[in-house]
Amino acid sequence: MTDDRALVLFSGGQDSATCLAWALERYPHVETIGFAYGQRHAVELECRRPVREALAGPRLGPDHMVDLAATLAGLGQTAMTAEIAIETTAEGLPNTFVPGRNLLFLTCAAAIAWRRGLRRIVAGMCETDYSGYPDCRDDTIKAMQLALNLGLQRRFVLETPLMWRDKAATWALAQDLGGDALVEVIRERTHTCYLGDRTRRHDWGYGCGTCPACELRAAGWQRWREQAPPNVQS
Ligand code: ZN
Repeated sequence: MTDDRALVLFSGGQDSATCLAWALERYPHVETIGFAYGQRHAVELECRRPVREALAGPRLGPDHMVDLAATLAGLGQTAMTAEIAIETTAEGLPNTFVPGRNLLFLTCAAAIAWRRGLRRIVAGMCETDYSGYPDCRDDTIKAMQLALNLGLQRRFVLETPLMWRDKAATWALAQDLGGDALVEVIRERTHTCYLGDRTRRHDWGYGCGTCPACELRAAGWQRWREQAPPNVQS
């Protein structure tokens, strides 16, 4: 297994699209993996192909789709996967948290990476400016790397380039990686809104504008625009 082949967890959202661009800059061979898990915003999956097309080149390898919808539905409902109002639970977690989701995603990604000879697994988890999901934390990812390497007998490297970046810095990273063209791809073609709303267009892209995911994306855009040189059209 060569050191420079990567698999990117690519949902069709802003963070994973930025991670895909990040990996394509670093590694000569990059594949993608996506998951259907019964998300209310399944429209994000339809955004994957146009984003991949925009980033296509000799480095971009095949895409892998894994259907976990029945598996996760069988484990119970959340506001991410059912028509339940989004709120914070008594223990302080958003009820959009899907227990086990990212652990399952990383396990499936490692299984594909194992078969495909891909050493680096790149994912957009972030604990800096995030929704409070415990499976996005750096320690969770480090523990998963250890568990996967032991369980699969490989030396995978789990890379999370956004872990210590806030959402403004994530927009800035896209600008650094691909200039205005990449920022435009992310604004126009990626999807973030939990409610799956693509009928409303804002400066920062499409979404309802009020769900927690839209609020994070919009606030990050706003902060970045205030910091950045005014060379991006609104
Ligand atoms: Zn929204």
